[in-house]
Amino acid sequence: MTKKTVGYVHLEWECPACGTRNKGVDKICRSCGAAQPDDVQFEQVAQETLIQDEQLIAQAKAGPDVHCPFCGTRNPATAEQCSQCLADLTEARAREAGQIIGAHQNKGVPDVACSFCGTMNSGTALHCVHCGAALPKATPPAAAPQVRRATGMSQTARYVLFGILGLVVVACIALIVLSSRTEEVVGEVEGVSWEYSVAIEALTPVEDEDWRDRVPDDADILSCQQEVRRTQPNPAPGAVEVCGTPYTVDTGTGVGEVVQDCEYQVYDDYCTFTELQWREFDLVSLAGEDFAPRWPNPTLAQDQRIGEETETYEVYFNADGRSYTYHPDEFSEFTQFEPGSRWILEINTFNNVRSVTPDQ
Ligand SMILES: [Zn+2]
Ligand SMILES: [Zn+2]
Ligand SMILES: [Zn+2]
Repeated sequence: MTKKTVGYVHLEWECPACGTRNKGVDKICRSCGAAQPDDVQFEQVAQETLIQDEQLIAQAKAGPDVHCPFCGTRNPATAEQCSQCLADLTEARAREAGQIIGAHQNKGVPDVACSFCGTMNSGTALHCVHCGAALPKATPPAAAPQVRRATGMSQTARYVLFGILGLVVVACIALIVLSSRTEEVVGEVEGVSWEYSVAIEALTPVEDEDWRDRVPDDADILSCQQEVRRTQPNPAPGAVEVCGTPYTVDTGTGVGEVVQDCEYQVYDDYCTFTELQWREFDLVSLAGEDFAPRWPNPTLAQDQRIGEETETYEVYFNADGRSYTYHPDEFSEFTQFEPGSRWILEINTFNNVRSVTPDQ
């Protein structure tokens, strides 16, 4: 984040002795003459306008005011002697500074009525134009009400959802229990089959997207557009500045600094391109019902190659009139299932053959 200064604005403080609001730059209450104590904080004025007075701005930049160690009077950071009692200020304590006072209030404020004579005064005035009485602070226009986002779902919907989740869990457990429950039957091999498949892959144009510097060299770029690639705290050539809401910070001088936090969006070319990739183009298979499986031997065109090769074996059993199918993993296991041979089959609840052992 980069902190940017928008400008400087007047602050105000309320006299704890008489309740009068005073300008931030006033070090002594205009009504009763009391000095501003060091524990009385500056506040935002109802409507903040940027100060044009260069001298005042320079004062705000010079550092927080100091309080005289003898009489407590506020003095500028640059003063050597107290303006009130002429005491030496080298030991004087600086006011607190750097606190955020609030969001920058640059909207107009409504007029306020004097509580003594009823005269309407500008919302930014501190004293009544008619009788000179201290005025109450005008209320800045309310910010747009925040839209309350609907959170989550209703209670009923939640119960229904939990109910469904519960049923799914129960079903899963039942499935695991049932499929692990087995019984043994004796079956006779009635037949076998095998299937050998070979995938043919071809170089195919495939569309993809990436930043320009990551596009493969042999790819064909179709189109590119500028998109935000990253956001960084510091400015850079061509980067787009994005700033947050301005807010007012206490400088400890009676003047506030309006700042905003900014970051920088760096744009880059994001491109759509096509690239040649090996993709499955065809599948050729050979199948048979004997113990002599053979791999297909397809003729390959240019820009084609052999892809994945798969072998599947099936053995068909008959056990007391019921049929079962077993899938050996390997050719060496497959060849043991001579037609007519007898085997003990472990069958689960779903009639799947879990394992096979010779019936001695
Ligand atoms: Zn006062
Ligand atoms: Zn003093
Ligand atoms: Zn008045």
